[in-house]
Amino acid sequence: MAVGWTHDGAVHEQIEASIQDEVSRARLSLAGTESLSHCEDCEEPIPEPRRAALPGVRRCVRCQAALETQQIHRSLYNRRGSKDSQLR
Ligand SMILES: [Zn+2]
Repeated sequence: MAVGWTHDGAVHEQIEASIQDEVSRARLSLAGTESLSHCEDCEEPIPEPRRAALPGVRRCVRCQAALETQQIHRSLYNRRGSKDSQLR
């Protein structure tokens, strides 16, 4: 399934473990919060199975993937400062 990731070989594999960690932590911190019926970024309806699978989900698959990719890049390149966090 294409979710906007490019497989960059070594780089991707190197960070994969920390991504898993980040993702599960993000999901834990979302547990118990209210799921949105529509994506807060693009306002697409969020499918019920996704809302059931991810308590507190706030974005559609596409926006969530984009966000996670952005967060990963931010943590990879945080030496460059926080400018990137202002970009969408
Ligand atoms: Zn969306």
